[in-house]
Amino acid sequence: MNLAKKIKEYGKKIGLDEVKITTAESLSTVKDFLTEMKKEDKLSKFVKSDLDLITDPKQVLPTAKSVIVTAISYKVDINQVPNLKKDLRGKLSKFAWGEDYHNVIGSKLDQLRAFLNKKDPTVETKKFVDTAPTVDRALARRAGIGWQGKNCSIIHEEYGSWIFIGGIITNLKLETDMPIKNKCKGCQKCIEACPTGALEEPYVLNSSKCLGYITLSKGYIENEKRKAMGTRLWGCDTCQDVCPYNQEAKSGNHVEFQPQTVEHYPRLPTLLTLTNKEYKEKFSSTAMNWRGKRPIQRNAAIIMGNLKNPKAISYLIDGLEDPKPIVRAHSAWALGEIGDDSIVIDLRKALAREGKKRVKEEIRKVINQLLDGC
Ligand code: SF4
Ligand code: SF4
Repeated sequence: MNLAKKIKEYGKKIGLDEVKITTAESLSTVKDFLTEMKKEDKLSKFVKSDLDLITDPKQVLPTAKSVIVTAISYKVDINQVPNLKKDLRGKLSKFAWGEDYHNVIGSKLDQLRAFLNKKDPTVETKKFVDTAPTVDRALARRAGIGWQGKNCSIIHEEYGSWIFIGGIITNLKLETDMPIKNKCKGCQKCIEACPTGALEEPYVLNSSKCLGYITLSKGYIENEKRKAMGTRLWGCDTCQDVCPYNQEAKSGNHVEFQPQTVEHYPRLPTLLTLTNKEYKEKFSSTAMNWRGKRPIQRNAAIIMGNLKNPKAISYLIDGLEDPKPIVRAHSAWALGEIGDDSIVIDLRKALAREGKKRVKEEIRKVINQLLDGC
């Protein structure tokens, strides 16, 4: 058995669902595409700015000859997840349900590196997990892990697009795999379902419009995007949920990706008042561990507004007293969405004590909106 086959066999043995190999040639067309996207300000801020580095494996490892690309399915058996869709709850994207995938796939890649080292102690390797999503996907497409869908996800023939991608750049010259045929054909379901028009054309995702990025970003969210969030607390699965190739996708059944410290529909009042200690306890082992608690609190306030459930009013009034302006501002907006004019007194009190211009503007706007509606 040649080394490429042994690597694939070992990868499957340690729980990777797919292992393919491509060359270490640079991704020059991807670099051109990203350069254009950057010029048009459509590129996610999470993509590292050094495009040469992220599109050329040899910039990471000068002796690179091959890239081993791996995928692990994060789809879990829904019957094993409690049904919590009621009351004041918000939805987490499936990628954020369980343990931090960087750690899960990262430790499997470490095992794979150790395996290579045993075969050849002089081997050079560099691992990557989420170096930049677009580039990981480009390597996955070239290695034949799946085809790139019009929603920009990589679609694996069995596991659909519910996969995390990671890999190893190595100086070993390995037998490579071929890309697989794109099966999107005339389908446009993802483009039609996107609530913000972020999929501007097939295969072109404008990150500045994408709720997958917006919900993870810091700072204020534009009003129209707040509404578009619906109940999306962290990430957005819509363009994957509608994909025909995801309907019957096989589950990897990795227990690590089942909800553990955080429910997949967490209670919003608990999140709005999250303390640093609670944030650490609940989120440090998840893929939501890198942004801090403010965006989670902000999103919880927005969703309570979108739910228009009067039960949220008392929590949002408390939110007007949060130490962070971002939480106060979005709590005020959410109160306006619920639209109960009895809260004008609380909003006026909040306005009187508020010191931040932006928050004052948000509160004033809501007071006017509620009084106009009287
Ligand atoms: Fe649109 Fe959501 Fe897909 Fe982003 S993740 S492209 S917002 S459907
Ligand atoms: Fe392709 Fe249709 Fe899936 Fe979009 S929804 S990725 S067009 S198959």
